[in-house]
Amino acid sequence: MSLDVNQIRQDFPILKQRVNDEPLIYFDNAATAQTPVPVLDALRHFYLHDRANVHRGVHTLAERSTEQYEQARAKVAHFINANDPNEIIFDRSTTEGLNLVARAFGDQVVQAGDEIVLSIMEHHSNLVPWQELARRKGAHLRYIELNANEELDMDCAHRVIGPHTKIVAITGASNVLGVVNPVKEIAQLAHQQGAYVVVDGAQLIGHYPVDVQKMGADFFAFSGHKMLAPTGIGAVYGRSELWQMARPVQFGGEMIDDVQRDHTTFKAAPLGFEAGTPNIGGAIALGAAIDYLEKLGMDQIRQREADLATYLLPQIKAVPHLRLYGPQDHHTGVFAFNLGHLHPHDLATGLDMEGVAVRAGHHCAEPLMTTLHTTATARASLAFYNTKDECDRFIKALKAVGSFFNEFE
Ligand code: PMP
Repeated sequence: MSLDVNQIRQDFPILKQRVNDEPLIYFDNAATAQTPVPVLDALRHFYLHDRANVHRGVHTLAERSTEQYEQARAKVAHFINANDPNEIIFDRSTTEGLNLVARAFGDQVVQAGDEIVLSIMEHHSNLVPWQELARRKGAHLRYIELNANEELDMDCAHRVIGPHTKIVAITGASNVLGVVNPVKEIAQLAHQQGAYVVVDGAQLIGHYPVDVQKMGADFFAFSGHKMLAPTGIGAVYGRSELWQMARPVQFGGEMIDDVQRDHTTFKAAPLGFEAGTPNIGGAIALGAAIDYLEKLGMDQIRQREADLATYLLPQIKAVPHLRLYGPQDHHTGVFAFNLGHLHPHDLATGLDMEGVAVRAGHHCAEPLMTTLHTTATARASLAFYNTKDECDRFIKALKAVGSFFNEFE
């Protein structure tokens, strides 16, 4: 059965507004998705009834709070098919998760002369932490480039992943090119060489069913705000034995085992990597977002977004003077483009005048922009609560903005 989008949109009151006198079309889901009422209710319920600090008190509220926080961890583990909830560390975001892996784990395993393999389409948050690790250790970065279709070049992957590779850090789906990467194949290549695989799950989560074991991820980081949860909460998965090899990078309350005057022992994962009071309400709301997504069904969500993307692709390609980045014959719900000589910021401002929210800029992927011979693009990105009617109005708005600016060229 397909999703009842009219019904679903009732859960997202933010979508029911006018912007510049036009009905809002929210096409900036790759930057952040919207939060439905049941998730906001879960957050509000926690603050109204159960708020207390976790893992500390013995009183009833503290126990309730701890139980819900740990339940949320179990929900995350189940959602991505981790073996054990203790493999899930709560953090702020994908960015924080990837930085944690690079510091806590990367510093333990990477040595001078080792190679860290990235793809050229990485978001800065899966690039700069590895650059910094390479700098600290005297290791080298190698990149998997794009092929002629502007997808990941697997021949190149075979060439650059080799006996010196220690870590392969790759995004599951691009936030620019509209592609999903063959992570399983990459992971096999990496594991054959004894390397570890770190997956940036920011654009996979909430759009595709995720199975960290099947894809062969040793670590997998994601943000709650890309999957209907509030901002400021995220999680990073790591295989149990790898967290055992890692060393905490933040120190303080709750992460210790025993503190003496001159030395301290630490708890194992997850608590050893969650120093201080965590974002308890955020984690509980993340659990509620998982409940919401699972109720709709991740397969249904993926199908719905695939239908929308298939509907939009030929229309966007047919807009005069439009350059679409990434493959031309298939696309995820992410569409990065430029229109004639228009600056993407002008384009996005023009679209906003028509009620359409898109992003413009380098999308935190400057090396990719250079590879694509540009400095910035506009980007429209879909979610399951978008509609074909919105796609039609977006195309109309795009053409209107294009011809408006052309008149002044
Ligand atoms: N990786 C990718 C592919 C992303 O799209 C994003 C968000 N734009 C991030 C990482 C970073 O996510 P956050 O800002 O939530 O840490």
